[in-house]
Amino acid sequence: MATNFLGRFDSQVARVFKYAARAAWKNPKQAFFFTRIRSAQKRAAATRDRQRERGVQVPPLLIASITRRCNLNCRGCYARARRHSPRPELTDEQWQGLFEQARDLGVSIIMLAGGEPLLRPGVLDVTRRFPGVIFPLFTNGLLLDDSVVARFRGQPQVIPVLSIEGWEPETDTRRGTGVFERVAAAAEKLRTAGLFFGVSLTVTRSNFEAVTAEGLVQALIGNGCSLFIFVEYTPAAPGTEDLTLLQEQRHRLVEFSEGMQERSRPVFIVFPGDEEQFGGCLAAGRGFVHIGPDGSLEPCPFAPFSDANAVDIPLAEALGSHLLKAIRDNHAELKETRGGCALWRRREWVESLARKDQA
Ligand code: SF4
Repeated sequence: MATNFLGRFDSQVARVFKYAARAAWKNPKQAFFFTRIRSAQKRAAATRDRQRERGVQVPPLLIASITRRCNLNCRGCYARARRHSPRPELTDEQWQGLFEQARDLGVSIIMLAGGEPLLRPGVLDVTRRFPGVIFPLFTNGLLLDDSVVARFRGQPQVIPVLSIEGWEPETDTRRGTGVFERVAAAAEKLRTAGLFFGVSLTVTRSNFEAVTAEGLVQALIGNGCSLFIFVEYTPAAPGTEDLTLLQEQRHRLVEFSEGMQERSRPVFIVFPGDEEQFGGCLAAGRGFVHIGPDGSLEPCPFAPFSDANAVDIPLAEALGSHLLKAIRDNHAELKETRGGCALWRRREWVESLARKDQA
């Protein structure tokens, strides 16, 4: 598998931390943390290189959905669309063990998602043990009270990321009446506490203009937001494909994000962003990989297919599973030029790989 894209991907990751140090100008302790973490990131990239020489493909980014449970019921929620697994959710100790393996393999960033991750407050005891790993924690913000804010203090490696869909109308339409107001209150708590935090905006064909409006971004910056993650909508169920971004919207989203990055302090990221510059789909361990609430290794949160579980086998072995390897080896075919997600478009093939292996 051609790996020359990894150098470019690693430098993108390093660039994000440069911008993060700049974005944290009001909080010298946080700014110093981001400057210091850059050397830890370099060491992690070197570890990944060594692992690759040993035949183990380790991505810089791991997405850990630590629970299925959620206190909201948003329209088109991909987590709720997942098939129910008979296996129990991992315990805090099991997640700690997995994060240790990931760190030792060279994973730099562990995104904490769900469901609602703050329904598992114990995870904040686990993250405390990993000062060299960055944990963006994607939350709907409803459980962000003073005690949780206090637990974020002293953990600059944990970055709260509040999920919204735009202004109040867009957010409440998808997430429920009154949610935008409660998220705004959570943001105010984080700002008052002087914490580095961000927002994630799910971008669809219909809310594109609303979430790429500079007015919205400037207002959020005014509310203390230092990180913007634009998540391209990926269908979670057949019949929702018309919400995916058109190709021209995808290009405009990357341009908007890069333009904002040039003229403002916060960090701007598009996920998965312009995969073409990295030779196609970054899932399945090329750039990132997903671990489900029960420990199953999956190519991506939006492609819930698996043939390996990190409870049964070491993470290094699970990263080499037949399914993940087959997707990596065929990444050139997984280029999406019409908008949307290549794995979703090829989901029958992906599912057949997972099934074959389970059989
Ligand atoms: S908050 Fe997230 S996990 Fe919960 S229902 Fe909404 S989209 Fe799904």
